[in-house]
Amino acid sequence: MKSNIHPNWHSQAQVTCSCGNSFVTGSTLEKIEVDICDKCHPFFTGEMKFVDRQGRVDKFKQKVEQAQARQKQNQLKQQQKQQSQAQQSEEENLTYQEILREKQSQLRQDKN
Ligand SMILES: [Zn+2]
Repeated sequence: MKSNIHPNWHSQAQVTCSCGNSFVTGSTLEKIEVDICDKCHPFFTGEMKFVDRQGRVDKFKQKVEQAQARQKQNQLKQQQKQQSQAQQSEEENLTYQEILREKQSQLRQDKN
């Protein structure tokens, strides 16, 4: 073996899991901390369990809530738009005669 190129080998490396289980293995690290092991992984326990390491489930729920809030806002905006459009179209539905009459009356008022 060439010297000074190989990492130190720990044949009694201690592995500790977040569930409390610990065992010994060989590793270049002296101590290993893991989030999941064969004693608590759903595949081995057969239990349905969400492994939520970094709050991903909560993040997803937050995203869903935000999306729903946005949808509601968009619906409100659309309703307001439709209402204002309806008002506008009422104003636009004047006939030319009515518009002419309005303009003429305005002109008369301006002259007086
Ligand atoms: Zn474990």
